[in-house]
Amino acid sequence: MDVDIIISNLTQLQLMSRRGNRLTPDQQLTVTRLRKETPAPVLAHFDGILARDRKAVAEVRHGVCSGCYLRLPTSLINGNGGLLTTCETCGAYLSFEHEESRADMAMASA
Ligand SMILES: [Zn+2]
Repeated sequence: MDVDIIISNLTQLQLMSRRGNRLTPDQQLTVTRLRKETPAPVLAHFDGILARDRKAVAEVRHGVCSGCYLRLPTSLINGNGGLLTTCETCGAYLSFEHEESRADMAMASA
């Protein structure tokens, strides 16, 4: 399964988890579907972080994890070989969607 899809699923799940039980029936169906699509070990880690009231998916901006606001090692930012990456400090799954250096690299390799 594509890492980008997993991250996008987790981002949606995280958003909806913040609404607690105020989800509409449609949203509840979406949550059920997204959880089914997500690999079990990923979901377990995700739920574990959310249970501690922390960000389970953190955007990376300018090399900084938005979950713990600490700078990430360059090695982590530059190459994860398409694998799901977690922050070594806070454990959040890292989303590189808005990371400029990543975007530049993607354009360069395209
Ligand atoms: Zn972090």
